[in-house]
Amino acid sequence: MTCLVLLDQALRLHDNPLLWYGAAADNSADSQPLVAVVCLDKSAFFDQQYGMARASLLRLQQQLQLIADTEQALGRFNIGLVTLFGEPEAEISHLAGLLQASQIIAATPTGYREQQTLEKLGRRFPVTSVDVNSLLGIAPLMPELDNLPDSFSAFRKQREPMLQVAPALAQYQPQPSQHWLTPAETRVFSENFRQLAPFSQPTLQPGSSEHHALQRLDDYIWQQQAISYYKQSRNSLFGDYYASKFSAPLATGCLSVRYCWQQILDYEQQIAANESTYWLKFELLWREFFRWQFRKYSKAWFSRNAIKGPLDFSPPALTVAKQLHFKNWCAGATGVPFIDANMRLLNTTGLMSNRGRQNVASFLIHDLGVDWRLGAAYFEQRLLDYDVASNWGNWAYIAGSGNSGERQFNVIKQALSYDPDGDFVRAMLPELTAHDRSIHQPAAEVKVPAHWQSWLAKLTDKKP
Ligand SMILES: Cc1cc2nc3c(=O)[nH]c(=O)nc-3n(C[C@H](O)[C@H](O)[C@H](O)COP(=O)(O)OP(=O)(O)OC[C@H]3O[C@@H](n4cnc5c(N)ncnc54)[C@H](O)[C@@H]3O)c2cc1C
Repeated sequence: MTCLVLLDQALRLHDNPLLWYGAAADNSADSQPLVAVVCLDKSAFFDQQYGMARASLLRLQQQLQLIADTEQALGRFNIGLVTLFGEPEAEISHLAGLLQASQIIAATPTGYREQQTLEKLGRRFPVTSVDVNSLLGIAPLMPELDNLPDSFSAFRKQREPMLQVAPALAQYQPQPSQHWLTPAETRVFSENFRQLAPFSQPTLQPGSSEHHALQRLDDYIWQQQAISYYKQSRNSLFGDYYASKFSAPLATGCLSVRYCWQQILDYEQQIAANESTYWLKFELLWREFFRWQFRKYSKAWFSRNAIKGPLDFSPPALTVAKQLHFKNWCAGATGVPFIDANMRLLNTTGLMSNRGRQNVASFLIHDLGVDWRLGAAYFEQRLLDYDVASNWGNWAYIAGSGNSGERQFNVIKQALSYDPDGDFVRAMLPELTAHDRSIHQPAAEVKVPAHWQSWLAKLTDKKP
């Protein structure tokens, strides 16, 4: 009898309760062998959604690199990692059968598909799930889904008086009571995964391994102390330190959100607490809010009106004209410089600032009239920090189908506020040559919405 430890959303050695499973057992001779496992979900990376690939090559490479790094890190302790590839329920059930597993332990998911997988596995094997990626994941702190507020402000007010967060665990060290299968013993089960070898390039995306993520955290918080001015810098569009860039490692699970939180508290105690340090925690609470919202409403988040109105999972339908708008939006070729610059950044790096995301989403939904789910699906494909709850939750939010009314941004006003001299647009769109803010002028063929008119006039105003 063995216990499978599924590391899918927890490919890390710091603050990882899954790795400590069975460590407290008194008698090591009685403990069941542990098998570390990760399964790359074939459909999440290779299927299509609304006619688009679900993941870019860059995102696949990031995941493969993360798996390879974790395999290496565990290997240093002579712990093997079984790497599976395919449909998770089938692959894990098959492995569980081969190894006569009596127990499966895994991270508690937020997404509907991952929830379904664990539920199905649970019908055949005893499954224990541990919420390793939430701030409020431990019993006394867990929100009750029935009473979970649907507005962020209400959620924050409910939580803030305590701001209690589950403490992070120590860096993992193998325990005498644990018997892990070794690399030599696990290799035989990873045959299928080798098909993915042609895709694994050493891309070294920043933050795509636990090591890089911890380095970034140390650099951002402690070395640069950029956290001390986060509230002022967070609305910028590009640069190294305007925001934390913790999102990709948080999304893949190689960085623990509880560890982040703990580090912010340590910084507040040892260096300085101010509005900015508070604001980074505030943003982490947004992430937390969407996680619990996803657990509450589950599949409804993928419906046309998300959590508002009747469920309708029919795919988005576009007229020919809107198909072209959508295609141009994806390519960064709408003719609106502020939108195109942000989309080109996404297409080349797999990331975009929060300010950029809000604008391109609002533009697609409210100015081009395209179904928000197409934008969410395209972001899913491209974003290296793709996280089911944060992505679909934010898209629905801007569409007015999630936790707020519609959010429409005036793209020209935003461009003037957040890229007043056009430096960002100039860096992303080298074909545009204007030296002043008139660089934000939309191309002649763009059908300009009425609400932009007064702001367009400001592009050519002489005064600063
Ligand atoms: C349309 C749209 C789609 C988005 N899709 C994703 C996504 O797939 N994955 C993702 O992690 N974030 C998503 N966000 C939220 C936000 O834009 C990113 O978390 C942020 O830009 C990442 O950069 P950072 O780590 O430097 O953030 P920081 O500003 O440094 O914030 C710190 C952390 O707080 C969390 N956070 C910040 N803002 C939000 C937010 N609005 N919602 C949820 N969590 C937040 C993230 O974990 C982030 O790493 C989306 C926002 C929009 C408007």
